[in-house]
Amino acid sequence: MKILVINAGSSSCKYQIIEMESKKVLCSGLAERIGQEMGRLTHKILPDAAEEKKIVRDEYFPTHVEAMELVISLLLDPEVGVLKSKDEIAAIGHRVLHGGEAITAPVLVDERVKKIIKENFILGPLHNPANLMGIEVAEKLFPGIPNVAVFDTEFGTSLPPEAYMYALPYSMYKDLRIRRYGFHGTSHKYIARKTAEFLGKKPEDLRSITMHLGNGSSMTCVKDGKCFDTSMGLTPLEGLIMGTRCGSIDPAIVPFIEEKMGYTPAEADAIMNKQSGLLGICGRTDMRDVHAEAGKGDEQAALAIKMLVRSIRKTLGAYVFLLDGIVDALVFTAGIGENDHIVRSEVCKNLESIGIKLNEEENAVRRPEARVISAPDSRIKVLIIPTNEELEIAEATEKLIKK
Ligand code: AMP
Repeated sequence: MKILVINAGSSSCKYQIIEMESKKVLCSGLAERIGQEMGRLTHKILPDAAEEKKIVRDEYFPTHVEAMELVISLLLDPEVGVLKSKDEIAAIGHRVLHGGEAITAPVLVDERVKKIIKENFILGPLHNPANLMGIEVAEKLFPGIPNVAVFDTEFGTSLPPEAYMYALPYSMYKDLRIRRYGFHGTSHKYIARKTAEFLGKKPEDLRSITMHLGNGSSMTCVKDGKCFDTSMGLTPLEGLIMGTRCGSIDPAIVPFIEEKMGYTPAEADAIMNKQSGLLGICGRTDMRDVHAEAGKGDEQAALAIKMLVRSIRKTLGAYVFLLDGIVDALVFTAGIGENDHIVRSEVCKNLESIGIKLNEEENAVRRPEARVISAPDSRIKVLIIPTNEELEIAEATEKLIKK
């Protein structure tokens, strides 16, 4: 069975076709700068294999429809195509950001689901309209093929009220739906499932802490297999320090900079989302660059690393407490989590007294597979598990259409 996974942005569209029996990615790609003067499609055939082929086309795509039409022509191309007919696609899985409180599981797209996506435009103003457009383009170009929506907020819907409520006037929750939703849910859910599998535990017995550390970063603590707390909030801005996002700060800073600098709310929002985090502290967003600069003696780069590690450790400590100290595993994932042995080592430093001890040699090795990096006598296991949101979406889609 072949599943097409689509992640539509406002001017871009990412896609993958996965062969479900082998879990092999047959092709993947990214259409960028849709609606702009010149767009670009980068299409890769067998992207994870030695025989990978890459096709780059610079063309004008007035809308997502034209971009996806070019993708389809490449999919069906007699030389480089991976399909003989569009009907080989059993279903299309869509990444959708925000389902609010209404969506607690992946769903087959129908008019009710589209209405819920629309109702949540206010909570996901950049992503939800684009995600809905991706669904509508798929309906137009792949008629008769079922569409499934997998929501990034779904995993967070199991949060207990004491975790999702903010201590603001209760009416703000009731009237404006201000609460913690949590994001990166598809990744956290995938990692929880893989962690249980890796440890040989029933998913419903799992108690773990996942550190999804990438350009955007978030942490989740999982109790009885469910999301029990998570670091991102009403928006993905809350929580850890990220590539360009400030993470949690004193909320009084917002009116302060608006008043002192004359920023509008939109400008203050852009500063916190796009000019802060690692970028704000040291002028670099990519951890590889931050390490390189710190290595050359750049004090702000060294400070940025210390601040990032501290924000992770503070959340880790809180989550170990929330789980009453009974934790099966800490899991590192995403770009930094999977590749940055220095950050992992600093996060786990001097934690032997609470049962966390790294095997530094194993930690220093890079291998793209799920593995243990804690010492044999570490009470809490420390794991690296590569995340795969597309596969999680494809598997959820397959499960739903097989019902
Ligand atoms: P993601 O958002 O999960 O794709 O992660 C992207 C981020 O991972 C990049 O911006 C880098 O900061 C980080 N990253 C990727 N490779 C490495 C590496 N070898 N060492 C440190 N950080 C890395």
